Amino acid sequence: MLSQKQLFLLNTAQTSNFPRLLEIEKAEGNYLYDPQGKPYLDLVSGFAVSNIGHRHPKVIDAIQQQLQKYLHVTVYGEFVQSPQVNFAKKLSEVLPQNLSSVYFTNSGAEATEGALKLAKRYTNRSEIIAFTGAYHGSTHGALSVMGNEHYKQAYRPLLPDIKFIQLNTLPDLAKITNKTAAVILEAVQGEAGIRVPDLAYIQALRKQCDDTGTLLIFDEIQTGFGRTGKLFAFEHYGIVPDVLLIAKGMGGGMPIGAFVSSADIMGVLKDNPILGHITTFGGHPVSCAAGLASLNVILDDGLTHNVAQFEKLFKSKLQHPKIKETRGLGLMIAIQLSDFAEVEAVSKKCLDDGLIIDWFLHCDSALRVAPPLSITEEEINFACSTILKALSSL
Ligand code: PLP
Repeated sequence: MLSQKQLFLLNTAQTSNFPRLLEIEKAEGNYLYDPQGKPYLDLVSGFAVSNIGHRHPKVIDAIQQQLQKYLHVTVYGEFVQSPQVNFAKKLSEVLPQNLSSVYFTNSGAEATEGALKLAKRYTNRSEIIAFTGAYHGSTHGALSVMGNEHYKQAYRPLLPDIKFIQLNTLPDLAKITNKTAAVILEAVQGEAGIRVPDLAYIQALRKQCDDTGTLLIFDEIQTGFGRTGKLFAFEHYGIVPDVLLIAKGMGGGMPIGAFVSSADIMGVLKDNPILGHITTFGGHPVSCAAGLASLNVILDDGLTHNVAQFEKLFKSKLQHPKIKETRGLGLMIAIQLSDFAEVEAVSKKCLDDGLIIDWFLHCDSALRVAPPLSITEEEINFACSTILKALSSL
């Protein structure tokens, strides 16, 4: 009989020739467990998803309650489904006034796709400006605004009328004109290896968008739901975007995303053509119930409160001759090493020692640190000493 690992390689489509192949039996709190019961501290959060930890009891309870009522009932946007309504209402309460209309999707990439269509439709313009190093998802539209040619060249032709500018480069802002439908930007660039925009840059970007009638789309798919120490990272910059993209940590472990804007902007999707942007499963009732419960946990348990202090702790402990730089905002940190070989060697040693750590799609010479916000000081100490031990053994 073939093992689970062999069947995984045989019957589930592979995305690389080097999968981690860690078999997961269970996940709870800040830990994953293999079939032998060995615990692994999760320093990646399923790629910025498990912000409140795995299988939070309040999320499980909300899912179970919804399971008693209904699963899928119809395509998105037709019937009044209270899990969607309640989650959208709560999101609009915690967001600024102009972000009050929530279009639910199943994933981050779909949120990106919806926002790009929305911007073109609202402004009657086609040009989109994106950033070098950006990652907004893997679908065709999202790939078109990805700032890494290596991942794009095999899939051309992509969307026309896309321009790229450099983060934190003020002169580039002049490329945003009254021909530009939207600028799309990660609140902190994730896959580029954690690149934090300057405050003055974001404020100048907001002004240039205002001056040219360009929509500012903030991708908070990785930064949202407390990861940077604020509920949403735009709060660090004293600006409000026109369109907000959320997903990943939004569902407490369930698949869901959204693009959020004002009722005025979102209103253009209703007609000419009607049903011009639709989804069957977007805003699945079970995912919405889980998402609302997860947001309430973040707020009620004050999970953002320790994030800045935990960032400091990581940065102060992660000192080693092989570490060139530790950069980031909140619990979204990159440990810069010399090359991929070092990153791979450290990741493998950490895994042997019960710590899950990874790298970045567009920066494979840095280690990714993005633990659940529920991580403790003790666990941070364990994580840092495990990483340092792995580095010393190279
Ligand atoms: N935007 C950002 C900033 C992301 O980090 C990701 C995923 O890593 C996405 C969009 C795409 O989200 P999804 O994988 O849910 O399609």
